[in-house]
Parts: sequence; C-alpha cells; structure tokens
Amino acid sequence: MRRRHRLCKRFRHVGGVARDRIECYVDDLPTPPRPDAPQRKIIHVDMDAFYASVEQRDDPALRGRPLAVGGSSGRGVVAAASYEARAFGVRSAMPSGRAIRLCPDLLFAKPRFDVYRAVSQQVRAIFALHTDLIEPLSLDEAYLDVTDDRLGLGSARAAAEDIRARIRSETGLTASAGVSYNKFIAKLASDHNKPDGLCVVPPWKGAAFVAALPVSRFHGVGPVTAAKMERLGIRTGADLRDRDLAFLQAHFGSYAEYLYGAARGLDDRPVRSERTAKSIGAERTFDTNLSDPGDLAAALERVADAAWERIERGAAVGRTVTLKLRRADFHTITRARSFNAPVAERETFAATGHQLLAAQLPVPGGVRLLGLTLSGLGAGKPDPQPPLPF
Ligand SMILES: [Mg+2]
Repeated sequence: MRRRHRLCKRFRHVGGVARDRIECYVDDLPTPPRPDAPQRKIIHVDMDAFYASVEQRDDPALRGRPLAVGGSSGRGVVAAASYEARAFGVRSAMPSGRAIRLCPDLLFAKPRFDVYRAVSQQVRAIFALHTDLIEPLSLDEAYLDVTDDRLGLGSARAAAEDIRARIRSETGLTASAGVSYNKFIAKLASDHNKPDGLCVVPPWKGAAFVAALPVSRFHGVGPVTAAKMERLGIRTGADLRDRDLAFLQAHFGSYAEYLYGAARGLDDRPVRSERTAKSIGAERTFDTNLSDPGDLAAALERVADAAWERIERGAAVGRTVTLKLRRADFHTITRARSFNAPVAERETFAATGHQLLAAQLPVPGGVRLLGLTLSGLGAGKPDPQPPLPF
C-alpha cells in the first residue's frame, strides 16, 4: 500500500496525464551553421503508454494505479502497461502471469481497440494540420516531415509543441516528441524525455547525441543484436562509431551500412506517407496448414482486422479487395473483386474476403497463408475542396 502511495505522488496522474514532468531541450532547430546543406525537419510523435493512458483517462478508478491492458488469465499477455506498472518492471509483451508476480496489485483492463483507433484518428487529424508527410508506425506513433512549416511557426520545435498541446487539449492524453534532422535521431529523441517530454536534437549535436546512447536503444537493434554487440564490446553509439565498415560487415552483414551511418547520426530515409502506397493489407502464415472452413474463416477475420487497422491508420481508400491464398504445395492464388465506390466499411472489406475464400474451398492439402489487401488507392479520394467564395 505504502509503495503504491509513493508511486501516485511521483506521477500525479490527472486524467491519465503526468503533470510534473520537466521538459528538457537539447537545443532548438534554427538555421543550421551550414545553410547550404539541405536539411529535413522531422518530428517523431509517440503517445505515452497509449492504451493504458486511454483506460486511465476513461476510468477514474484506474488513475494513479499500476495497470496492464490485456488478458489477466494464465495465457494472457500485457499489451500495454501504465507508468505505475512499469515501475514494478511490468512491460508490454510480457506474459500476464509474470506481470502479476512482479506487481501483485496489478489491475487489468480489456483492450478497446475501437476507442484507441478513434483517438488515433483524432491525433492524425492534428498531424495533418502541419503536414501531409505523415508516416504512422502504429496507432500511437508516427514520423512527420515538417520541413515546409505549413503553419509558419518558425521552427520544428514550435510545431512539435503545438502538436503536443493540441493532443493534450483535444484528447486529454500526453504525447512525447523528438525533433531532429532525420528519422533515426527523431525516434531516439522522442524516447529521451518520456513521458510528456520534448527533445530537440539539431544537426550539429546529432553525432554526440547518438554517441552517448546505449546501442540497445537504437531502432532496429533488438535484444539478439544488442547481445551480439555486447560480446563484441559495443555498448554505446561511440563504441559503434569506433568500428570500421569492414568490421561491421563481417559481423552484421547487410545491416552494416545502416549501423555505420546511424553511429554517425546519418540516416537519409524519407518520411513515407501510406497514401502513396499502392496497396495496404496484411497476411499471415500458419503454424499448421488449415483445412477446416471454420478455422479458415476465423483466420481470415484476424487477417482482415490487421489489414483494416493499417487501412484506417493510413486513412487509405481503395476499390479493390484482393485475397491471397497459399496452398500446402506453395502454389499461390490471388482473387480480387472491385467495387464502383471506395470500400469504406470493414464489414464490406472482410465479407468480400470471405466470399473470395469460399469460392476456393476445399483446398487440397490445406492453406499455409492467407492475405487480404485493399488496392486501387487514391482512385477514390474525395474531390479537392472547392475554392472559398469571396
Ligand atoms: Mg507509445
């Protein structure tokens, strides 16, 4: 009890919002010392403990308490943990049984993805005030290219502050933001002052910022790669920068060039908005081949869910639904159906998939993989707004 009380004081959650954070700026992003260098301005925005914060916002009884979103049964997995739960070591993707052993007072909430999707759309609309170049990574995370400074705020930091303030006032939730000249550093920066923080890393501080961080924080360096680096004596960005390209290629193969650049604060990947994608969907390979029509229908539902989440996230529109089916002998079939108007409902999308699947049954030997995509994107975009009258 006493421990929980301390945690409450530490975070002072009001409406799922931690109020006591001190924001820390590495620096602003004014004109760089070399104005001839083409410079992108990129913001990585990451909602803080997103699913858990939404649940705490909507249920006062959960505020200030250790909370996991996910199933509490023996087979459950933590989808998201509140900061109070993280203080006990509870993390997302952890089996719920283990989480309960770490934090016996842990509360559980069932995920409400429809609510998370709706909040995500609200946040996306805020991003769209600033730029069309939005690359979502998940419901609660996105890269924005704000080089154009559409609102004329004067700096990328000001844009990030505006976005964070609007998210707070419109959703009652907090987001952290990292501002920098490339995606790699912007993402590292958004994590730097979490939660409810802002961190700006200008070009002339990028290399030093990266050098000081543990490599395990780098996007793309998972636990396996981090352990391998540890064995090679590489713990920080500075350690990584000390190794030459040949050494990295010998140990990390095709990944070496990315690491070599990252260690120097370099990354020239552009922000890619999903609107420019040709098709959006999802597919799943099964552990055992599926033959039973009920199993196949259930599997297709899950694929449709995953696909529709991406479609909504990208605010994508399209008229063609395509089913992909791979048989046990690896023969792959695709079947498509096109509509006159954009597919606007998940129900239509999924039902079309089920019709296309039913026409293929039975599948001799069973099905290894099912995929469902929406394409013909952009064709159904609404007409541009008419010009304003005088
Ligand atoms: Mg997040």
